[in-house]
Amino acid sequence: MDFRFSQEVNPSTYKTDGLADGIPVRVHRDFHKAFQRALQAQQDWSSHVRPLSGYQGGLGNKFSLMSVAMPECLPERLEIMSYANEFAFLYDDAMEAHLDGHNTQDPGPKHKSFFNMFRDGVMDRPNDSNWRPEKHLQARVWNEMMAIDRPRAIKALAGWAISVDVGSEYRARTNFKSLEDYIPTRVIDFGERTWYGALTFGMALSIPPVEFGDCMNLARPGYVALALINDLYSWEKERNAAKAAGEDFVFNAIWVIMQERSRDKGTGLLPEDAEAEAIATCRAEIKKYVREYHTTVDHVFHDPTLSKDLKAYLEAVLLMISGTLVWSIYCPRYNSKPQDSQHQSEMS
Ligand SMILES: [Mg+2]
Repeated sequence: MDFRFSQEVNPSTYKTDGLADGIPVRVHRDFHKAFQRALQAQQDWSSHVRPLSGYQGGLGNKFSLMSVAMPECLPERLEIMSYANEFAFLYDDAMEAHLDGHNTQDPGPKHKSFFNMFRDGVMDRPNDSNWRPEKHLQARVWNEMMAIDRPRAIKALAGWAISVDVGSEYRARTNFKSLEDYIPTRVIDFGERTWYGALTFGMALSIPPVEFGDCMNLARPGYVALALINDLYSWEKERNAAKAAGEDFVFNAIWVIMQERSRDKGTGLLPEDAEAEAIATCRAEIKKYVREYHTTVDHVFHDPTLSKDLKAYLEAVLLMISGTLVWSIYCPRYNSKPQDSQHQSEMS
């Protein structure tokens, strides 16, 4: 793909924990606008839904998530993508808070109505005064997207609904037998369909329907890498949240690996180093999938039978891996500890 809106970030200014396989990080030239709109989403949520305090979401040190996750987003679409992504973070966190204390086998009617917010057609009906405040904000996001590019906005909404809907059903599962068993569920929960919608909208890509199956299959290892990167860097946050809620399960690869490989067959107890070992295994799996996907994209680049937009999409997922990885390493969302001083001085 031709790079039109982004520049490569100097690799000496960030670390990748050895997981990026040499994939460069690119940042959108309008990163400050993405940052402002993410902040705006937080302010709107705070004013209309519930007050936020100390909330970080997609903000980062200098670069917010969307400016490095979608560096080639069309400039006139970057702000709404940043707002929408922040809204999704706020919504996810609200959902997690909502699930706290519930045993998710049967989410119950209240929980279901919460998800219905996303199933009901916000595009078909005018704003309803009975809507929850979240829904008014959601409608604003979609109206803005629809005004920019109606067909792709509709597809993006459908993708988000699938991720939320299917993801919530799958997420009720807690009995994963192995990492292989967990990964397909996690990839849907991570939102491969949401990101498909977001990237095709943001970059105005038209992937021919005949290529959709290939597209999902080719991108799959990239999304596995993204989901595992999220699990690795959000592990402490999620482990602590589960502990505080008194839950005996964490929806995270590290938890699944610990159960799968480490539990003593006789006593059923976990050895002391189980967590460190599971983290090391998760890192090895990330490396494996990043490499596999990087190789896939290199091959695809030389395949004359695939469309230009499919190639651009697959390359965009590749850049999303390096961008999300570096954002995850430094973002305040997963790091309550102070960053190393060298990074602070160069990135903040
Ligand atoms: Mg996570």
